[in-house]
Amino acid sequence: MWLRVIDIRVFTGGGFAENAYLVQCRETGAAVVVDPGAAAPAMADAIRSESLAVEAILLTHAHLDHVEGVHEIRAVAPEAPIWIHPGALPMYRSLPQQAAWFGMRMAPQPEPDREFVHGQDFTFGGCTLDVRDAPGHAPGHVILVSHEDRAVLVGDVVFQGSIGRVDLPGGDMRTLMKSIREQVLTLPDDFVLYPGHGPPTTVGFERVGNPFLVGVYGGELA
Ligand SMILES: [Zn+2]
Ligand SMILES: [Zn+2]
Repeated sequence: MWLRVIDIRVFTGGGFAENAYLVQCRETGAAVVVDPGAAAPAMADAIRSESLAVEAILLTHAHLDHVEGVHEIRAVAPEAPIWIHPGALPMYRSLPQQAAWFGMRMAPQPEPDREFVHGQDFTFGGCTLDVRDAPGHAPGHVILVSHEDRAVLVGDVVFQGSIGRVDLPGGDMRTLMKSIREQVLTLPDDFVLYPGHGPPTTVGFERVGNPFLVGVYGGELA
């Protein structure tokens, strides 16, 4: 057991059942929002009713289900800068086209303010997230590691028993497997993974139980 340094609350919604995370630094109460998707209105309600100080909106990647609620969070946290990796910017700026792939309509979201850099320490309210490039599922995908809390916001890189799809534009299986191998599986087994879809899992569980990461495919991909 370890003492929790951050609190992570999930808000799931929409046809993609996307997980948006409200992350709070326990010491100070400072909050950040990660991947506000279809459940952003419920998260915005919590931010408003609890008068939370949202210091930033962090985007692991620019798929529409992870960013469609940015404007709703901005409405309750107008000062919060939007962070994204520069590699994800073109996709972020083409939300209406992304929506068209799925037969949906969507307006552009607010323009990002800051750019993630691989290896940077993102700090909020005394807590730190280690920013790591993890492309393959989508261009400019990052994961956010709390070494203090032994928790990782992995976006759509890896899920409980699965991995991110690679068939959308900019996706690539070998790149994704390299990201998982070098950025996720190098972490200790007890680190909890909070994915963009589905329940939390751990590095150790996926290392031995994820069919994409064990030798089922001849070990060639893992
Ligand atoms: Zn995605
Ligand atoms: Zn997703």
